[in-house]
Amino acid sequence: MVGRRDVTRRWSFETRQVHAPAVPLYQSTSFVLGSAEHAADVFALRDLESHAYTRLSNPTTQVVEELVADLEGGGAAVAVASGQAATALAVLNLARSGDHVVASASLYGGTYTLLAHTLADFGVTVDFVRDPDDPDAWRAAVSPSTRAFYAETVGNPRGDVLDVAAVAGVAHEAGVPLIVDNTVPTPYLERPLEHGADIVVHSTTKFLSGHGTGIGGMVVDGGRFDYGADAERWPGLTRPDPTYDGLVFTEAFGDLAYALRLRARLVRDLGPAVSPFTSFLLRQGIETLSLRMERHTSNARTVAEWLLAHPRVTAVHYAGLPSSPWHDRAARYLPRGVGAIVAFELSGDARDFVDRLELFSHLANIGDVRSLVIHPASTTHAQLSPDRQRAAGVTPGLVRLSVGLENVADLIGDLDGALA
Ligand SMILES: *Cc1c(COP(=O)(O)O)cnc(C)c1O
Repeated sequence: MVGRRDVTRRWSFETRQVHAPAVPLYQSTSFVLGSAEHAADVFALRDLESHAYTRLSNPTTQVVEELVADLEGGGAAVAVASGQAATALAVLNLARSGDHVVASASLYGGTYTLLAHTLADFGVTVDFVRDPDDPDAWRAAVSPSTRAFYAETVGNPRGDVLDVAAVAGVAHEAGVPLIVDNTVPTPYLERPLEHGADIVVHSTTKFLSGHGTGIGGMVVDGGRFDYGADAERWPGLTRPDPTYDGLVFTEAFGDLAYALRLRARLVRDLGPAVSPFTSFLLRQGIETLSLRMERHTSNARTVAEWLLAHPRVTAVHYAGLPSSPWHDRAARYLPRGVGAIVAFELSGDARDFVDRLELFSHLANIGDVRSLVIHPASTTHAQLSPDRQRAAGVTPGLVRLSVGLENVADLIGDLDGALA
C-alpha cells in the first residue's frame, strides 16, 4: 500500500510516463487476506505489500501512485478523491487544532475557501501572504505554531511563478515543510521537489488526466523533511499512534512516515479514497502527458502573443511572455514553457465576451484537451471578497483560458470573432 517510487529506473521523463505497468482495473472493494496471521499483519501495517480494502489501497491505484511519485521525483505518493482532498489532507497531516499555516494569497478559489474558512472551523488558522514574491513577507507571517507553508507553483488564474527555492528556504529556516500545488505545470514542465519543496499536491482532474473524465487528487511526499529533528512539533508523526497499537510513524517508516500516516490515518478515517476506475483513466492520460503539455504550451504561447497585440485587450497574464514580471523566473523553473493557462483583461465586465465564444467550452475546469474559458470573478472566485479577489488577481474584466490541443488558427478565429 505504499505507492513508493522505483528508484532503480533511470530513463527520461517521456519513457517513464509510458512504461508504468499497464494494469488491469481492480474495481473491487476488498481483497482476500489469506491466513488470519497475514490479515493481522496487513491491518497492523507490518505488511505494506498487500491490499485489504480499497479505502486504504488498491492495486490499480498503486500503479498510478508509483508513476506520479516517479515523475515528480518524490519518495511516495497517495492518491485521493480530488485535488481538494489532497490539499486538505496534506495540511491536516501536519497541522492540528491550534496550529497555523502560512499560505500564498495567489490561490485557486477552492483552496482559498478551504484554508480560510473550513480549516478555521477545524481550529487551524492560515495567514495569507499578499506578495508571495517577497521572502520577507513569508518570514514575517511565521509564528511558533506554524506547521507548514503552502503555495501554487504557477498561480491559477494569475499565472505568477513561485520562487520555490526562496520560499522553501524561508520555510526550512522556520523548521516547517513547504507544500506546493503543481497542478498547472505538471511534473513535465516543473518538478518543485528538485527546487526544495517538500510535498507536492495535484488535482489529477486537470492536465495529468487530460481527458476531463475523472475527479482525483494526489499527494507526493518528497521524503526528505526530517520530522524527527524537532519531534515535539509533529506529534502525529513522532508519538505513539493509539490507533495502531502505539506505532510511531517516523520510527517505523523513516522517510515514508508522512505518506504512510496520510494514508493510514487520514484517508482511512476521513475517507476520501479515489475510485480505482479514476486511477485507471488517470494511468491512460499520463501516457501522453509530455506530448499534450508541449502542444498546450505552444498553442497557449501563440494565443497569448496574439491577445497582447489586440487593441481591446488591456493586459495578458502569461509568464511565457517577455512582458510578464515572472518571465525570467519562468525561464529558470519552467524551461520547457509555462503551460496552458492564459488570463487576460478587457476593460469593463468580460461576461459578454465569454458568451460570444463558440469553440472554447464555457466551464470551470482547466487542463482538458479541449479549450476552456471561464469568467473567474462571477464563478470560481465569486466567494471571495472584492479585496481578496484583487489579491488573487481577479477583476471583472478578467478572462481565464485553458488553451487546448485544437488547431491554434481555429482558436484565434474564435477569440477574434468574440472580440469584434
Ligand atoms: C482544480 C484545482 C484544484 C482542486 O482540484 P479538484 O480536483 O477540483 O478538487 C486545486 N488546485 C488547482 C490549481 C486547481 O486547478
